[in-house]
Amino acid sequence: MRILLIADQEAEFKELESLVGSIEGGRHQLVWCRADIRVLQATPVTRFHLVLWGQVSDALASRRLLAELQRQKRDAPILLLTDKPPAGADAVACARGDSDILLRDQLTPGVLARAIRRAMAPRKEQPAPSQGVDPLTGLTNRSEFREQLDRILADATTPESVGLLLIDVDQFKKVNASYGQVAGDALIQLIAERIASCLSAHHALARIGGNEFAVVYQNALGSVESECRINLERIIAAMAKPFPVAQHAIRMNVSMGIAMNKEPGMSVDLMLANADMAMRIAKREKGSNYQFYTRDMTDAAQKILRLEAEIRRAIRNEEFVLHYQPRIDNNTHRIVGAEGLVRWQHPSRGLLPPSEFIAVAEESGLIVPLGYWVVHQACKGLNDLALKGFDEVQLAVNVSFKQFQDKNFVQTVANIMRKMDIHEGRLEFELTETTMMIEGQAVDQSLRRLSELGIDISLDELGTGYSSFAHIQRLPISVLKIDRSFVGSVTTNEDDATIVKAIINLAHSLNMQVIAEGAETAEQVSFLGKNRCDQVQGYFFSKPLTFADIKALLGQEDFVDRRIQSVLALG
Ligand code: C2E
Ligand code: MG
Repeated sequence: MRILLIADQEAEFKELESLVGSIEGGRHQLVWCRADIRVLQATPVTRFHLVLWGQVSDALASRRLLAELQRQKRDAPILLLTDKPPAGADAVACARGDSDILLRDQLTPGVLARAIRRAMAPRKEQPAPSQGVDPLTGLTNRSEFREQLDRILADATTPESVGLLLIDVDQFKKVNASYGQVAGDALIQLIAERIASCLSAHHALARIGGNEFAVVYQNALGSVESECRINLERIIAAMAKPFPVAQHAIRMNVSMGIAMNKEPGMSVDLMLANADMAMRIAKREKGSNYQFYTRDMTDAAQKILRLEAEIRRAIRNEEFVLHYQPRIDNNTHRIVGAEGLVRWQHPSRGLLPPSEFIAVAEESGLIVPLGYWVVHQACKGLNDLALKGFDEVQLAVNVSFKQFQDKNFVQTVANIMRKMDIHEGRLEFELTETTMMIEGQAVDQSLRRLSELGIDISLDELGTGYSSFAHIQRLPISVLKIDRSFVGSVTTNEDDATIVKAIINLAHSLNMQVIAEGAETAEQVSFLGKNRCDQVQGYFFSKPLTFADIKALLGQEDFVDRRIQSVLALG
């Protein structure tokens, strides 16, 4: 066997040469390489089986030599000779599973022979350090995690003995969109550390997706479920503290789903699918939450699939109808527009509100064809109104974030408008803050093009999301709609009153119109009038009406004035 000695002094070489020569039955050849980077660079390390690391007094030289060794022969086994194990050498040896430390004063031919045998023993195939590891967090990655879980599930003989926890960071895209990818990466690292601090040492955390983590529970002291519950509560408490990222204190939530092996031999895919389903249900709630998977969830998911099929059929059969809720101008007391709100005339269940189907339509992508139907219907309504002489009335429709994912969205809307001959300023699109934030750049660009088509853009449900005013200002938004959660309490909650006043002032200073939504009482309407809110929409004036009814209402000159009497009576 050819052994290379790296050392400062030839004396050490001589000493070791005689030691190596005394190894019983060994035919080893020792070659000295002076501890000098140029000498090592000229030495073909690949021709040696083993490296002995002797006295190298210069620490810097030592690091450079080690780097050169690695460059030439990444897997060279190294035996370190030291007087006493210094921390640095220890670290080097420990970092390499195939190395060993030999104390000089205990070195005999037998000790050296054994160490050489150990170092040269066929090594188990170990993955390279980067394999199986997520480079950002240093945690186990998805493929390695799947393999581990597969082995654990194959060994599990009793039901409920393995638990899988999935942790999904809510609205993570928003962080990348608002603060950039570097900040997003930093945040993921912080979240990983924080979650890991909530787990016991025997629970390994893995990062299995961009913003998704996983933990496997087995060999629990009590039940897997109770061990898991303790961690869940800790994680929720830990997530409540803000994260310092990009000079901001960011609050983040996680949605967690837990699945158990219900029977022995459960597959990795089924465990992951169950935990994922539970996690998605947890996500529907605000804040950090968790859900344990139950069979009911699968039943509910199947129900959603059936609903999806029904919506698809309903679009074909034109079972949807568009109702309109009037918007009243606070100065002229006239109906200046209306918001189109979709309903489903279900053949057996009656008239269904959007809460029964919009979420499923969005999730399945069916909101795209449904949304085109809504735009088309509103355009038809505009033409019908114009024929009756109401050609100043504006119609608004709600547009969901999913519609912006359709790359033909702007072009298709343009085609509908051209075909229906819709002029500038008659059609309005309402978008929520979340839509603008989630889709970021794509929405920004589409909004500019829609605005060029003459469509007004309004920001719906203002105050419930995360928009930054710097962002709003850069977009072609002409209307802010104050959410009804604020409007409903302007006369009872001082904070909400302050927020509403601030939004009105902000809108005006940005040259935008402001509409208050959900005004139900004369007091609320009076407050909005006094604070110069431009338009009001709400049950106080009218619930959403059929197209025929809103047309009739537009014809009643004194409709608003009659309603306003009670507002004026308040003084
Ligand atoms: P939104 O855009 O915020 O619409 C306003 C909702 O508030 C409507 O509920 C309306 O009926 C209700 N509302 C109006 N005034 C009052 C009031 O004074 N008091 C109370 N309590 N509620 C009031 P609706 O029609 O159930 O619609 C709910 C949501 O469904 C809409 O919220 C919108 O986000 C969505 N939606 C409706 N139509 C469409 C559509 O065509 N496409 C999409 N993507 N979403 C739609
Ligand atoms: Mg709306």
